Amino acid sequence: MPLIGTTMNLRDLDKMTSNMSNTGQMPVLFLGHGSPMNAIEENEFVAGFRRIGKEIPKPNAILCVSAHWETRGTFVTAMQNPKTIHDFGGFPQALFDVQYPAPGSPELAKQTKNLITQTEVGLDDKWGLDHGAWSVIKHLYPNANIPVVQMSIDYTKPARYHYELAKQINSLRQKGVLIIGSGNMVHNLRRVAWNKLNEEFAFDWATEANETMKSHILSGDFQPLIDFKSQGKAFDLAIPTPEHYLPLLYSLALKEDNEKITLFNDKPVAGSLTMTSLKIG
Ligand code: ZN
Repeated sequence: MPLIGTTMNLRDLDKMTSNMSNTGQMPVLFLGHGSPMNAIEENEFVAGFRRIGKEIPKPNAILCVSAHWETRGTFVTAMQNPKTIHDFGGFPQALFDVQYPAPGSPELAKQTKNLITQTEVGLDDKWGLDHGAWSVIKHLYPNANIPVVQMSIDYTKPARYHYELAKQINSLRQKGVLIIGSGNMVHNLRRVAWNKLNEEFAFDWATEANETMKSHILSGDFQPLIDFKSQGKAFDLAIPTPEHYLPLLYSLALKEDNEKITLFNDKPVAGSLTMTSLKIG
């Protein structure tokens, strides 16, 4: 019996290492997470997340920059077992019952800290996984068997700072780390069309902002996206506060010249949100 076990382990290991060598550089994702209800609902967006999870090589670990962890200074979660944080109110009990027990990776946290020289990155032992991370990652990796580390967004810093900071962690991609930005390109909760909550509907300004963002993204012209505050009315309405937008800049900063960007889940909901997501590489 032990022999069979050993043989299987060896075969698995062989499969893993051949996967890794085939993997080369991991792609980067930006995921439009939308409503926390996407964690437990069945819809085209979660189908899109599942599809992308199957399409890309299986990562050794995930580093997620979520819109829902804003701090003064930059932190990475460094605990062995991050808790599932239910950072929302007014949703059904079923959503509060969701647990995503993926392990953490203190090693990846330390590696990330060491790579970043732009600032002193703090190792955090209090946060965990907020819904910006688990509500989407659970669809990519339902077995919760891939370690996840979150990196916070320093709310005191301008867009350019985040873009430059992200560039410093690019080499993690060579180590099989999947870097995910989780937010929404267009995200204005004050302007939500409450009568069209689950409908594919966008106000004109939301469409205009999303289309302009996409054209800059696909042409590789990121400067206006970094200068999002001076792009006019549609952008101002699409990005009333920067936390859901900045994860996009983290993802874009990791794109290399020869890499392609693929869009998916490119649809609006409730008038003032877009679910547009990207795969880079
Ligand atoms: Zn959110």
